[in-house]
Amino acid sequence: MCGARAHRQPTKPSTPGDTLAEFERDDSAPVVSPFVAGLRGRCPRCGQGKLFDGFLTVAPECPACHLDYTKVDAGDGPAVFIILIAGFLIVGLALFVELTYQPPYWLHALIFLPLGIGVPVGLLRPFKGVLIALQFHNRAREGRQHPTTEG
Ligand SMILES: [Zn+2]
Repeated sequence: MCGARAHRQPTKPSTPGDTLAEFERDDSAPVVSPFVAGLRGRCPRCGQGKLFDGFLTVAPECPACHLDYTKVDAGDGPAVFIILIAGFLIVGLALFVELTYQPPYWLHALIFLPLGIGVPVGLLRPFKGVLIALQFHNRAREGRQHPTTEG
């Protein structure tokens, strides 16, 4: 970390009644890389507080900067990415091993069952952290037809 963190003035205040306003990127906050924060399981705004309370459960708020995590929703995104990427790699590796070495099936089971369980489980938390940090960084929200106007 070089310590060169940009501080910008807020350009648009959040409107009351905006359900995701608490989880939007605050322009006055230090810029933390969403990939670094997500992979480390840290807060997407300050990069210090823990994002998870348990293995995959998102904490209610950041213990360092009190960013509200209750509006966070990564949905099925991490699982879909992991199924596609890890499935492609592990099945491809199993096919390569079978076609090249033709080992007995018990050896396939010994290699690829732990690999097929361990790799996806190991990737779930970092992928979920990165997706949540990217949602925060890119101000992702549900689509709306018209912006809400007060008055
Ligand atoms: Zn924080």
